[in-house]
Amino acid sequence: MNRLNKPIITKETIKAMEDMSFFTHALIFDDLLIIAQKETNCFVLKTNDGLIVIDAIWPAKIVFDAIVDAIKSVGWNPDTIKKLVLTHGHVDHTGCGKYFVETYNAETYLSEVDDIFWKEHPTKPERPETWKNYQIDTYIQDGDTITLGDKTIYVYGTPGHTPGCLSYIFPVKEAGETHMAALWGGTTPPWTKNGVEQYLKSLDYFIREANNKKVDVALSNHTAIDNGLERILYSKKRMSYMPNIYIIGQDAFQKYCTVFQTLSFEMLDRL
Ligand SMILES: [Zn+2]
Repeated sequence: MNRLNKPIITKETIKAMEDMSFFTHALIFDDLLIIAQKETNCFVLKTNDGLIVIDAIWPAKIVFDAIVDAIKSVGWNPDTIKKLVLTHGHVDHTGCGKYFVETYNAETYLSEVDDIFWKEHPTKPERPETWKNYQIDTYIQDGDTITLGDKTIYVYGTPGHTPGCLSYIFPVKEAGETHMAALWGGTTPPWTKNGVEQYLKSLDYFIREANNKKVDVALSNHTAIDNGLERILYSKKRMSYMPNIYIIGQDAFQKYCTVFQTLSFEMLDRL
């Protein structure tokens, strides 16, 4: 069978990133919830001292409501949201964070470089409703950790997609066993040759670090990359005797990351 080696990203894909008529979610680990619209998703990590939201989809109240409803529907308490951790300063990730700050006083995290980038280079410069609309409390960078209760998120500086893009590795639990999950922050390579070269360097670094941390779980913040919507659907209905589709193993994680190389080489051909 001839399988695709990268997703097909069209104008429709970009348009669907703003379609808030559809949300889905699944508890994919005992302590990790994924919430998605058609193209973009966020995660909620449960600790013994509250919840950490990772990325915030899109700046609209309906998105915030969908995330909060999903948290409630798996039996967690949104009042325990303590932190909002962002991968990068694009509007489809900074998203509805303002509501987490206003409603739950969530402490916000992003790199300083991308906080400035978010303010000075909005993703949609012609649309003020998508501009930076909340403050970052804590600047984080490569080598930092974010700890809440029994969980620690490891922070990796992976510039390329944006100048201050971050990627994360953190432990998740399935039936009492700990696995290491990796989230590559910036899905697609940028539109400049230097940018793509930096992106590829960051990717090499992240793959090495993921190897050191024995990452066996591949996450994505865009559903087109990882059959995201299908993985969520499967996870919602998974029987107890069926495997967790996010646990792919250490070697498969390395293979999974080749999609980002494929996208980069394709971009270099175009530039
Ligand atoms: Zn982005």
